Parts: sequence; C-alpha cells; structure tokens
Amino acid sequence: MIRKIVPYPDPVLRQSGAKIDVVDDEIRRLARDMLETMYDARGIGLAAQQVGVPMQLAIVDVSFDGECVSYLRVNGEEKSTADICPLIFINPVLEFSGPRVAENEGCLSFPDLRGEVTRPEEVRATLTTLDGETLVIETDGLFSRAIQHETDHLFGRLFIDRMSSARKHAIKGYLRDMRERYG
Ligand code: ZN
Repeated sequence: MIRKIVPYPDPVLRQSGAKIDVVDDEIRRLARDMLETMYDARGIGLAAQQVGVPMQLAIVDVSFDGECVSYLRVNGEEKSTADICPLIFINPVLEFSGPRVAENEGCLSFPDLRGEVTRPEEVRATLTTLDGETLVIETDGLFSRAIQHETDHLFGRLFIDRMSSARKHAIKGYLRDMRERYG
C-alpha cells in the first residue's frame, strides 16, 4: 500500500525515532509499504518519519547505479549495490571517515528542492535487518550519502539543517511557502 509522504514542516519529521526491539507484522507491513511508496515517488531512500511513524526504520535503494560507490563491504565481504539493495534497516549506528564532500541532495519531504549538503565521504554503518541480522556496511559515494541522509531522518534531522548558510538563505522563500501550505 502506498502511504502518504509527510511534507515539511510536519512535526513528525523532527521527532527522534523509537528504537525497534521487536519486529512484528506491523513493522514488516510498514517496511513493505515504504518500499512501494518510495518506488512510486522515484526516491532512493525513505525513513519511517516520512510516512508519519517516528521509529528507527529506513530503506535505501541505489541499485540502479552499480558505479555509485568505489567500494562496498558487507560484514567484510566485497558486494555490489544490487546484492544488498533494497536495504531495509533498523536501529542504525554510524561511524564516519574520509574527507567531507559537498553533493546535491533532494528529499521526498521537500518536493522540487535540491541543495548541496556536506557530509563525510565514507561511512561504516552497523544496522539490523528485519530478520534480526547485524550488517556492517562500509562504503562511500551515493550509498554512503543515502544511508547518512536516512539515518539523519531517524533522529529528526533534515538535509536543510546541513546546508551552507548561503543556501539556507536562498531557500527561505521555499520553506516559507511550504510552511504556509502544509504547516
Ligand atoms: Zn529525506
């Protein structure tokens, strides 16, 4: 079932997600619905907050581009993005390394908005799957960026928070329009 994507400035987007201790049928249904919703909206990632549920569950799919990372290891083994995507994860813990790089990002809760966001290039993400398996994902490029963007959502952080002050200034009118429309 396709769910409604929550637009900025809905307060649920600022809520830190509850840790998920038990994966029940409701969580599985939520994850399935989120995949359907994300593909329908042509996104590459979606967090539970974006369908109105403040829990630590997110999905990422960058398998459309096998070249979007320079390396990808899952529990120490070399993998391709197609091996691991769609990635459905709960309760992420991230560690960062490498230089900070600025790239354009978008977000399904901010229609038509793009902006440069600076993030560490590399991530080591310790994630749990819906089957309770622990995955340690080490990667860079778009996959690293998408995992960081979605994990931010799970803790109530948004990509606009990480934009430069010049870019924040430039999008003031956009954000005001969104608040008038959806606030
Ligand atoms: Zn987003």
